[in-house]
Amino acid sequence: MELLFEKTRPGRRCMTFPSLEVPVYSLDQKYCRKNLELPELAEVDVVRHYTALSRRAYGVDDGFYPLGSCTMKYNPKVNEDVAALKGFTSIHPLQPEHTVQGALKAMKFLSDALMEITGMDAITLQPAAGAHGEYTGLSLIRAYHLFRGDVKRTKVIVPDSAHGTNPATANMAGFQTVNIPSNEENGVDLDALRAAVGEDTAALMLTNPTTFGLFEKNILEIAEIVHEAGGLLYYDGANLNAVMGIVRPGDTGFDVVHLNLHKTFSTPHGGGGPGSGPVGCKAKLAPFLPIPVVEETADGKFCFRQPEHTIGKVKAFYGNFGVYLRALTYILILGREGVRETSENAVLNANYLMKSLEDLYEMACPGGFCMHEFVMSLEKLKKETGVSAMDVAKSMIDHGVHPPTMYFPLTVPEALMFEPTETESKETLDAVVLLMRELYERAYAEPEKLHAAPVLAQIGRPDEVKAARIPVVRFPLKNE
Ligand SMILES: *Cc1c(COP(=O)(O)O)cnc(C)c1O
Repeated sequence: MELLFEKTRPGRRCMTFPSLEVPVYSLDQKYCRKNLELPELAEVDVVRHYTALSRRAYGVDDGFYPLGSCTMKYNPKVNEDVAALKGFTSIHPLQPEHTVQGALKAMKFLSDALMEITGMDAITLQPAAGAHGEYTGLSLIRAYHLFRGDVKRTKVIVPDSAHGTNPATANMAGFQTVNIPSNEENGVDLDALRAAVGEDTAALMLTNPTTFGLFEKNILEIAEIVHEAGGLLYYDGANLNAVMGIVRPGDTGFDVVHLNLHKTFSTPHGGGGPGSGPVGCKAKLAPFLPIPVVEETADGKFCFRQPEHTIGKVKAFYGNFGVYLRALTYILILGREGVRETSENAVLNANYLMKSLEDLYEMACPGGFCMHEFVMSLEKLKKETGVSAMDVAKSMIDHGVHPPTMYFPLTVPEALMFEPTETESKETLDAVVLLMRELYERAYAEPEKLHAAPVLAQIGRPDEVKAARIPVVRFPLKNE
């Protein structure tokens, strides 16, 4: 498809400007650009260009999007209406507090709701994403230990069932990562944990539900072991979609938790828009939170405050404010019962899908029930037919379904990880079951068809490593 820059024709215009009501002012030439190449096109060409582009993309509004660990659920449009209210979009972050009381109140309301949902005492909304929240949370934990003169705590324990960002974050935050294996039930191996903790343990990072889509059964015992060693407990709550309204990280002994508003709390994401990874913590960590936090004063006003021993700032201004408004709207409309029902239905849908496929596809954790997502292994299918998880995923694209997460978790060979989310109807799930069963049979009957997929997509099978390592994301302009 040609770019706007290639479709350009000198002199074509989309609009004519009204004649000036003020005298013409000529800017000093030294402030002017020498050259600015912009495409010149008629309105109809621009409209057709973007409409064609939008048809090539795939999003939650197009169809089923079971991208495990990413919670690509439907985003109610009323969230957008609220985020677009003029009173919110036309304010500036540098305005004096007394002129933006409504915005501060919205932030305070959201903070309170999220503290209630997570069982925490304090919170920052600032981090821009989940991994950024992890980094902020570990920074709080470091500040806490150092403030107490406990300077030897340099290690962060990360079970191998953790999300990949956990060990990466621990390293980025300057800690040494200690990996511990899973037990036969794909939970944390308690003996390995006991052997790993000590005076150098800063924290344990637990992803719950784990990347296998399972609830960590020994969560209370894990918390006790780490606390007894003097370490703190970090809860990766990006997958709260499975447990919100049912169990709270704060009640199971955790000191810090991050949430992904762009997953659980319904904001468009995945190349779509900005994210938000609020970090909640227990009272003992509150003095270290990033600047500023929002507070309600005695006279019912709202203000920013600087925590006493703050780690500083982690994001420009106050974070991604529009995402807060979407999350707040979402929570207020659902209400207490609705929040819980959301998780219950997410878990129900995942189990329905898993149980409808487990006679054909091998599940990573066979026989049991899952939380909001499940992992299947196509190792046997690949051995018998040569058809890989990649082949099956690419074939799904030809049938108008977004593939699940592939080759993750790393400990499961030929993994496909499905997260249907609560917003999908039984009819949608049944159609996907039918498709997955058809693909299974086709793998034995016509494996070459699956190797060749996708045949209907704009792009077939790109070199993914090269695309990630040497991304070409912009068009070279003529004068470059
Ligand atoms: C998505 C996810 C993250 C990372 O969140 P980002 O917003 O992509 O940085 C961390 N942990 C878990 C369990 C996740 O699912």
